[in-house]
Amino acid sequence: MSGLFITGTDTEVGKTFVTSALAWAFRRRGIDVGVMKPVVTGCRRGKGLLLSEDANQLLRASGADDPLDLVSPYRFEPPVAPAVAGKISFDRIEETYRILARRHEIVLVEGIGGLLVPLDAKRTVADLARRLGLPVLIVARACLGTINHTLLTLETARSAGLEILGVVLNRRNQRPSLAERTNPQVIRKLGKVPVLGVIPDLRRPSPGKGAGYLKTAAILRQVRSRQIQAGRRVKRLSLLDRRRIWHPFTQMADWKKVEPLIIESAQGVWLTDVKGRRYLDGVSSLWVNLHGHRHPDLDAALRRQAGKVAHSTLLGAANVPSIELADALVRITPQGLTRVFYSDSGSTAVEIALKMAFQYRRQNGSPGCWRFVHFVNAYHGDTIGSVSVGGIDLFHRIYAPLLFKGFKVPAPYPYRGVSSEDSLRELRKTLDSHREEIAAVVVEPGCQGAAGIITQPPGWLKKVERVCRESGVFLIADEVAVGFGRTGTMFACQKEGVRPDFLCVAKGLSGGYLPLAATLTTEKVYRGFLGSTGSLRTFFHGHSYTGNPLACAVALENLRIFRRERVLERLKPKIRLFTEELGPFKQLLHVGEVRQRGLIAGIELVRDKVRRTPYPWEEKIGIRVCQSLRERGILLRPLGNVIVLMPPLAISPDELRFLCRETFAALRSVTERPLDRI
Ligand SMILES: *Cc1c(COP(=O)(O)O)cnc(C)c1O
Repeated sequence: MSGLFITGTDTEVGKTFVTSALAWAFRRRGIDVGVMKPVVTGCRRGKGLLLSEDANQLLRASGADDPLDLVSPYRFEPPVAPAVAGKISFDRIEETYRILARRHEIVLVEGIGGLLVPLDAKRTVADLARRLGLPVLIVARACLGTINHTLLTLETARSAGLEILGVVLNRRNQRPSLAERTNPQVIRKLGKVPVLGVIPDLRRPSPGKGAGYLKTAAILRQVRSRQIQAGRRVKRLSLLDRRRIWHPFTQMADWKKVEPLIIESAQGVWLTDVKGRRYLDGVSSLWVNLHGHRHPDLDAALRRQAGKVAHSTLLGAANVPSIELADALVRITPQGLTRVFYSDSGSTAVEIALKMAFQYRRQNGSPGCWRFVHFVNAYHGDTIGSVSVGGIDLFHRIYAPLLFKGFKVPAPYPYRGVSSEDSLRELRKTLDSHREEIAAVVVEPGCQGAAGIITQPPGWLKKVERVCRESGVFLIADEVAVGFGRTGTMFACQKEGVRPDFLCVAKGLSGGYLPLAATLTTEKVYRGFLGSTGSLRTFFHGHSYTGNPLACAVALENLRIFRRERVLERLKPKIRLFTEELGPFKQLLHVGEVRQRGLIAGIELVRDKVRRTPYPWEEKIGIRVCQSLRERGILLRPLGNVIVLMPPLAISPDELRFLCRETFAALRSVTERPLDRI
C-alpha cells in the first residue's frame, strides 16, 4: 500500500494533467493504480449528481473503476476555496483513501490548489497531505517566475513536515527562453530536490503524451522504496530508543520488553505515531498542551521568531519577546505580582521561588526564617530543592539524605479522612510554634496534581492565605500544573481571590510548545534585593536559556489566543459536559472517587469500594487501564491507581465524549473481569 500526493505551486498549473499522465504511465507498467481528488469545487450538476470533470479525467487515465464518491468524496458546486464551499472531515478523507489503498497497488492523490489552500478554519491542503502520510510531488509551471513560486512551495512543504519527492515542470514553451531552459537546474540546486520531468506545452495534450516526459521509473522507485524504508525505519527507531534513551519516571527493565510508542506528528488533540496510528492526547502531552497541537498561530509565532533570533542571553542583555511576555503575564496573574524571573521548567520555577524567599529573609532582617512549610502529597518538581518541599514518598524517599528539612503538614484529602479543618489546624499549629524559622508556605492551588488530582474543598486555599498573612510568612503558589485555564479560571488562585507572594508557572505557559517557566513575585520582594554591587544582594541565579526568545514568542502568542479565541468563555460548557460525562463513573464497582477541577479529572480506583482499600501498586492497575485505552486510540498516563484525564482545552465536545466513553469502557473491561466477581 503506497501513495503519492500531487500538489501545485498554483491553480491551473496542470496538476490533473500531470496526475493523469503519471496514472497512465503506471498503468502501462502493469501497475494497478488508483486515483483520488478528495476535494473539488466548481462541479457541474447533472442527473441530480455533482459531476467532476477532473475526477473523470483521472479515472479514464488510470483505468480504475472506483465510484465517484470514493475518488472525490467532497464535491462542491461553487467555484470557491473549499473552506468557504462546505465542511470537510479529514477522518472521512482518510477512510476513503484507505479503502482505495486496499483496492490498488498505488494511489495518486491530487490536492486542490496549492499547499496553503484552506480546507477549514485551521487546516490546509498541507495538513491533509501529512494526515495521509504521503510524500508530495510538486507541479510547477515552466515559465518565467516559476523559481519564486516553486521555492515558496518547497519551503511551505518542508515547514509542514512533508516529505518531498520532487518537482515536475509543466507546459514549457516549445521554444524555451534561456530562463526556461535553466529553471530546472536552479530548482534542483536551490530547492535541493530532483526535477522529475519537464513537459512541453503540448498542442493536443493527452496523458499518454505527457507520460513520455516524466521520469516514471524514478518516481516509481521512490514511491515503492519509501514503503520498504518506512518499515525498516520503525524497526530501527524502536531498537535505538531502547538502546539509547533513558525515559523519565520509567522502570527501564519493563520498557525494554515492549514495543515503544513513537510519536511522529500531531494535529489538534490527536497524536500520530510512526506507524500512522492516531491517539487522542488525553493528558495534553503531560499537562502542557492547551490549544491543540500545531495551532497555526503558535506555529507561525515560532517561525516568525526563528526568522529573527533563536536565543540570546538575559545575562547582560534583554530581548524583545521576553519583555513583551513579562508584561502580558503581569497583566493576567493575581494582583501584586509585578516582577518576572524566567527559567525553563516547573522544578526550576519552584526552586527559584524558594531561593528568593530564603535570600530575602537572610538579607532583610530575619536571617533565621529560612525553612519552608509544605504539604503531604505535594509535588513541586524533581530538582533537589523542589523535592525537599515535595511530599510523595514513593518518588522521593531515597533522596532523603540530600534534602533540606522543612515542616510537612497534611493537605485536605476528604476521601482518605483528612478534612480542610484538619489541615488548617496543623498549619496554624506549625506556624505558631515555628514562626521564627519559617520563610514561606508552598502550595499547589486547586488540587494536588501529581498526587492523584486531590482536589481541595472550596475556601481552603483562601484560609491558607489568611494564616500566612497573619503569621507574616510568604505564600508560594505553584500553579505549574493548574495555571492557564485548566481549572476554568486563568489561574486557580483567582477562584478565591488569593494573592500569593510568589507564583510559579510552567507547563501551559508556552501552550505545550517549548520548555519555559516563570516565577512571578511582588515589588516588596524585588526591592529586598536592591543595593550596591558590593552589598551582594544580587540574586545569583540564572540559566543558559533564561528568557529564551523562541519560547517567549510562542508563550506570548499562547496568551493572545486565550483572548482572541475567548478560550475561557468557551471552556465553561465543556467543563459542564465533562462533569456530566464523569457522572456515571461513580457507579463503577472499582471507582472509589471521581475528582474534577475544571478540565482536570482524577478517577481513583480501589480494590474494595466499601473499605476504600487501594489496589496494591505492584498490580499496576492504572497502567493496565491505560494500556487498554491505547488500543482504543487514547493516550493517558496514570498516577498510581488514579486515572488522570487532562485533555487540551481545545478539545471538542465530541472528542471529550469519546475520551470519557472509551475510558469508561476500558475501566470496566480491566477492573470488572468475571474473576473479580467471584
Ligand atoms: C509538573 C509539576 C512541576 C514540575 O515541573 P517540570 O516542568 O516537570 O519540572 C512542579 N509543580 C507542579 C505542581 C507540577 O505539576
